Amino acid sequence: MKNIRNFCIIAHIDHGKSTLADRLLEYTQTVAEREMQHQLLDNMDLERERGITIKSHAIQMNFPYKGEEYVLNLIDTPGHVDFSYEVSRSIAACEGALLIVDSSQGIEAQTISNLYLAIGNDLEIIPVLNKIDLPHAMPEEVSDQIIELIGCEREDIIHASGKAGIGIEEILNAICDRIPAPKGDPEAPLQALIFDSVFNSYRGIEVYFRIFNGTLKKGEKVKFINTGKTYEADEIGVLKLNQESRQVMGAGNVGYLISGIKNAKEVKVGDTITHVDKPGIGIQGFEDVKPMVFAGIYPVETSEYEELRSSMEKLQLNDASLVWEPETSAALGFGFRCGFLGMLHMEIVQERLEREFDMTVITTVPSVQFHAYTTKEAMVKVNAPSEMPEPNYIDHIEEPFIKAQIISKSEFVGPIITLCMDKRGILKNQTYLTSDRVEMTFEMPLAEIVFDFFDKLKTISRGYASLDYELIGFRPSNMVKLDIMLNGEKVDALSAIVHRDKAYDWGKRLCEKLRELLPRQMFEIAIQAAIGQKIISRETVKAMRKNVLAKCYGGDISRKRKLLEKQKKGKKRMRQVGNVEIPQEAFLAVLKLD
Ligand code: GDP
Ligand code: MG
Repeated sequence: MKNIRNFCIIAHIDHGKSTLADRLLEYTQTVAEREMQHQLLDNMDLERERGITIKSHAIQMNFPYKGEEYVLNLIDTPGHVDFSYEVSRSIAACEGALLIVDSSQGIEAQTISNLYLAIGNDLEIIPVLNKIDLPHAMPEEVSDQIIELIGCEREDIIHASGKAGIGIEEILNAICDRIPAPKGDPEAPLQALIFDSVFNSYRGIEVYFRIFNGTLKKGEKVKFINTGKTYEADEIGVLKLNQESRQVMGAGNVGYLISGIKNAKEVKVGDTITHVDKPGIGIQGFEDVKPMVFAGIYPVETSEYEELRSSMEKLQLNDASLVWEPETSAALGFGFRCGFLGMLHMEIVQERLEREFDMTVITTVPSVQFHAYTTKEAMVKVNAPSEMPEPNYIDHIEEPFIKAQIISKSEFVGPIITLCMDKRGILKNQTYLTSDRVEMTFEMPLAEIVFDFFDKLKTISRGYASLDYELIGFRPSNMVKLDIMLNGEKVDALSAIVHRDKAYDWGKRLCEKLRELLPRQMFEIAIQAAIGQKIISRETVKAMRKNVLAKCYGGDISRKRKLLEKQKKGKKRMRQVGNVEIPQEAFLAVLKLD
């Protein structure tokens, strides 16, 4: 146990975690050269395509140092603001962290938020100044920022480049030298923390754990403390590039367990594994996730509802931050109301459902959670516009507020403040980190920032601003429900809850946007926006000229085929509501109004 090191890599997105992880795996010959693939840990297709890390991944390396063999367990973490929940889970399984900072960018918002998580968990921090191969690297300036932030010595900071392979051995040495060996008693009752799990259709559910105390042997009877369920440890082992089974694993180790679990509900990340005989007590797990955005997910084919449910259960196993419950919509039928960490998370869930489970789904207009105080009953939590009580009974409505931390070059301070004020934000604090870097703190309604605020911020700062935020509570706000009607019929899945000051403008622009997005039909479609009984805007989608296809007869076969194919593709994410077809984009139109 004295030669085990459990560590994670934390950094702001794009500062080079995955690339550096590749170099560590190469250097320790964890992967043979012929197996080496770019960004090895990002083994979800989606991660490779988007070039971001979504899931945390664990992998074990062996490294000889000062004449002894070390076992290094690396847990990679995602950097996007939506996925800080994954980060906190990885951190709980480690004793140390590499803090990677891009030497051409400097410290960013997630560098700081992840660092605080790590410090809060008493991790030893090894600062790494990355990408020093870049001609515009600013090693001195960024080192100053790091020293200021964590109070380390200048010589503690390792200069590295994942791309050019600089500083790799020094990092591995520092991991052995500076990160403490795991504590824990192999003789004590078993306590293994579940930090992740994944569904494997051949082997059932794989559970990833970190043993804090005790020893686990293959074949033993184990119990998951929170669920109370018992299993046999059919297979245990360590996570190399592939799984390597073991007979015995002791305190300090990170590994996997397979015990024929088929039901996703039985595995809870944060749960503790112990023995049925001589049980230990549960480890303090993770905080419950707080979903920020809610939206409905509906199957495009209503007959696929049950299949969608089982797909969601399996996905949830691998994504503990996804929460959902059944919901019915007058327009869309049976589906699920889901809570997401942010818009990127929502997109990823939709894409994973389609890719990994072959489902075609529609996500409805996203919303934050509002609290409606009524004159009739207690407070109602409103996760969907359709759950909003009748206006006559509403006493007042509260909406979630956040504290946003924005770090940027000083030249962008003006535009950033303007943007935040436009989003109903209040500037609370402004500090200069260095002469050229400013940290601003705002209090803002969550609803104004979860949707597209981050993109806007990037645009006005030419990519030089970063954002991190946390919920600070609910505050009274003048919100109203904006309904959309198609040919006189209210489509509940298109409703939104908006601030009264913005409602008229939104209604107008939403109708215009929908006019662009709704495909023409054989008849006219009237689009109306309403608040309560009052119509505030109207647009019309003209009827299609009947012979769009007929025109292609008599010759141009390829054009006709193209048209049909286009139609077929369009079908994919389209739902029939009454006699109107609504494409996926229409449900997200409300997000793209300005
Ligand atoms: P992550 O989001 O932190 O996992 O970052 P990645 O490892 O995916 O790297 C983000 C981008 O920076 C990619 O385009 C990499 O090729 C590039 N990159 C990573 N490390 C280095 C480095 O040391 N030097 C240079 N010049 N580019 C790097
Ligand atoms: Mg990555």
